[in-house]
Amino acid sequence: MTKFFRTALGGIWLSFLLISSGCTSNQIASKTCSNLHTEICAGKIVAPQASIENIRSGVRVAIDAIYSLRFEKTLNEFYIKNAKSGPHSAAWVGFDAETVANQLRTSIKNVEIVTYGGLWAFVLRFGPAQNIAYDGDGNGPIRLNEWALPRSIPSLGNTVGHEVAHKVGLTHPSSSINRAVANCEPPYVIGALIEKLAQENTLPDLEITCNSL
Ligand SMILES: [Zn+2]
Repeated sequence: MTKFFRTALGGIWLSFLLISSGCTSNQIASKTCSNLHTEICAGKIVAPQASIENIRSGVRVAIDAIYSLRFEKTLNEFYIKNAKSGPHSAAWVGFDAETVANQLRTSIKNVEIVTYGGLWAFVLRFGPAQNIAYDGDGNGPIRLNEWALPRSIPSLGNTVGHEVAHKVGLTHPSSSINRAVANCEPPYVIGALIEKLAQENTLPDLEITCNSL
């Protein structure tokens, strides 16, 4: 390919990125309440029109899962059976499922969500970081990468739960070293559990292990 064509193709691709990320108009939802627990609501969501209902549905399944006894029970079972030994165990030191479930329940109430897009978000999404969200550093809104939207509602519930887990202080110290180990650390386990509950809420028993995540 000549240099001219490479430059032209690069220009077309860049234009596509800028156009596709700049044409979306944002919508605001002042709050999103769970279907099962109508008094429990997340806070403001600011997102592109095409994705906002998808995100709201993800928030609803995350609230429903976190507020279920099954969530707390399954998380506790995971901790007892799978979290006390192995390279991921350091991230679980001092963990208590009931305490954490209650912290998550408090934290998801009024949590705010915004999205971010554009060229840099594209690089974050498809580059080595493969970023789909940030927790918003303490009290800031959860930030969802628009290049990972829309997607399945259980998957969005997973992401919301993962980021809320960060907000209550849980971490995955192995994520930059070994993603398979990080999958067994609290934010990934909590997110995966929410996703499974959203997918399989009719199953009588739910057991998760590191291998099933
Ligand atoms: Zn994380």
